[in-house]
Amino acid sequence: MKKNLLAIASIALLPTFLFISSCQEKKTKEKSEAGKVEIEQKVQDLLSQMTLEEKVGQMTQVNLNMILSNGYGAPWDSIQMDTLRKVLKERNIGSFLNCIDHAYTLEKWHEIITKIQDVATKETRMKIPVIYGIDAIHGVTFTRNATLFPHNIALAAGRNPELVQKAESITAMETRASGIRWNFDPVVDVGRQPLWSRFGETFGEDVYLTKVMGAATIKGQQGDSVNTPTTVAACMKHFLGYSMPLSGKDRTPAYIPETVLREIFLPPFQEAVNAGVKTVMINSGEINGVPVHSSKYLLTDVLRGELGFKGVAVTDWEDVIRLHTRHKIATSLKEAVKIAVDAGIDMSMVPHDYSFYYLLIELVKEGQITEKRIDESVARILRLKFETGLFANPYPEKEAIANFGKPEYRLVARESAQEAITLVKNEGGILPLAKEKRVLITGPAANTITGLNGCWSYTWQGNVSTWYPSDVKTIVQAVKEKIGEKNVVYTEGSGYTEAKDIKAAVNAARGVDYVVICLGEDAYAEQPGVIDDLELPEAQQNLAKALYETGKPVILLFTEGRPRVFSKIEPKAKGVVLAYWPGLEGGPAIADVLFGDVNPSGKLPFSYPRNTGNLIPYDCKFTDIRQELIPGVETNTGYNPQYPFGFGLSYTTFGYSNLTLSKSEFSGDSSVTVSVTVKNTGTKVGKEVVHLYSRDLFATVTPPQKRLKAFRKLSLEPGQEQQVEFIINKNDLAFVNQELKTVTEPGEFELTIDTLKTSLIFK
Ligand code: BGC
Repeated sequence: MKKNLLAIASIALLPTFLFISSCQEKKTKEKSEAGKVEIEQKVQDLLSQMTLEEKVGQMTQVNLNMILSNGYGAPWDSIQMDTLRKVLKERNIGSFLNCIDHAYTLEKWHEIITKIQDVATKETRMKIPVIYGIDAIHGVTFTRNATLFPHNIALAAGRNPELVQKAESITAMETRASGIRWNFDPVVDVGRQPLWSRFGETFGEDVYLTKVMGAATIKGQQGDSVNTPTTVAACMKHFLGYSMPLSGKDRTPAYIPETVLREIFLPPFQEAVNAGVKTVMINSGEINGVPVHSSKYLLTDVLRGELGFKGVAVTDWEDVIRLHTRHKIATSLKEAVKIAVDAGIDMSMVPHDYSFYYLLIELVKEGQITEKRIDESVARILRLKFETGLFANPYPEKEAIANFGKPEYRLVARESAQEAITLVKNEGGILPLAKEKRVLITGPAANTITGLNGCWSYTWQGNVSTWYPSDVKTIVQAVKEKIGEKNVVYTEGSGYTEAKDIKAAVNAARGVDYVVICLGEDAYAEQPGVIDDLELPEAQQNLAKALYETGKPVILLFTEGRPRVFSKIEPKAKGVVLAYWPGLEGGPAIADVLFGDVNPSGKLPFSYPRNTGNLIPYDCKFTDIRQELIPGVETNTGYNPQYPFGFGLSYTTFGYSNLTLSKSEFSGDSSVTVSVTVKNTGTKVGKEVVHLYSRDLFATVTPPQKRLKAFRKLSLEPGQEQQVEFIINKNDLAFVNQELKTVTEPGEFELTIDTLKTSLIFK
């Protein structure tokens, strides 16, 4: 009875509540509109007073080392005040980035930012604050003791956008606490080329997954406003088509037909714009012979015209210069500057000289570029500075600093790693391991911190362990802590690429119940991470082969930024666990999964290749050509991965039933509800990711075999079942046709969840 009353009471209160909340929403909207008008007036007012030199300075970004003693490679702790004054007062520079390759303490950052802003806002004529940008890629790369989360590829495996948003809001808080308000993140390039050294920075091979995770990142970093002590301006990058160089090598030419560019690579950028992203960074590479920094079509017509992006477009590192030196489309640096500005960039990350600044001034004075064009870019940059609150207070804010390094952040990092870890083989239920048994932990990844954290970890390459917090645990240390020193034997066994004492590992295996071999890749970033062969180095494979000979059950555990092929040693492994680059809490999270304190729930965000010559994503076309021509001839012309996209086991089991649609035909803008029942059919609490795929049976452009349209992660007790609903409409079934239009063609679609299938007709 009491319960009913409560229900009635709340229903009665509902209209009043709705009225109040809609009033509040209206007020917030009005306030934000008024704020925009006010900012616009201030921007125009400033612009009207600025000289050409002051304007062009705002468009120029240099590296911090330009104001350190002796320039590049100098002792990193001393800002040269004379140089700083020159840079800000004579060259009017508007933005700085990053630092020399190492992390500073929070206090050091405050000193740096304070010195820069002191000169910028007190000694320059226009008193315009500097905007500092940084790569906080999986946490605040360049601040000591900042929390480092798993890399994007791992977060994508976690399939938990709410958790991603939480982690990213912590990154935003720690960035802002460092006195920095602009983060060059997220990477929303779709990871279609596993050889690429930046694969680990992507959310994997799927468009929809990248859209969801990219938007969650932006929401986490920017919140509802970037003018708060807890938020920063995010930067979607690298626009467009960076992640699929033909050779797989970073910054080498890509050849991408426009239908594919629009079908695969563009949607995550559109989603990021819809999520309100404030800035964009441009792709350093070239597509179909056109360097993206020179493409007015992509940077103006598509980015601004079609996507509706209104924020700041910053170049990537030295990329204006490279239009002349690498791409050879500009006969001089000056022509390169003209091409890039004409194409639509707002700010040049020069970052090691002032060529852009001087040449752009010359170009405007000669009438080759109009001052009106300059005003457009400067207005965008000033707007960003107002929006991030720099004009009100350019210094590290007290309220922001208080948010740095809270102990609970590490718990979020651990949870993120736990959710990501993906169990892909578990023969005879070998995992989880019993805590009272003896285990040998070996391999190059077993006792390293850098191999857990990958790139952008206190340094660009992430491979210098001295910069890491002292309490970070390797896999061996975490396992020892979990099951006790006496049950753990450790020996290195092998380096990442070079052979080590395999015999010692074989001998050590004799006295244990299980062998866990930790393999994969150490930290690397960008060009230094370029490889010729995706196959796991021989030294590591030899260690596994030798340990199989001992007859002990072997579990292979991988920490890596991209999938290294290990099909030759896979068959004899009893268990295989993928941990990607799991971040600061990776060691403990791996131990949690290995010994059953956490039930793994990660799902592959890419297709794990079986062969280096067969790098095909799951949403490929139908390609079983040979089989059709010569019946009985077995060839792999199609999808044949080691483990497919979306795959991941659990210590429990799940059953799917009752896949139903609210209607089997639909038309126009109506929507359809897809529902399915999921049951935990095993004996342990577990999390399952429900994936909904669609397939267009026939289309005017060859349809993919299937495409992810929605997913949801749920936690179920043993025996518990839950109904999951997804709502889809015609846009979810659309594709880019030969006229480059996104269309939904009438016809039949197959919807799949797990092994259940149903048919839907669009009329
Ligand atoms: C990378 C960008 C990064 C920039 C600044 C470049 O080399 O491609 O992703 O934001 O450096 O560090």
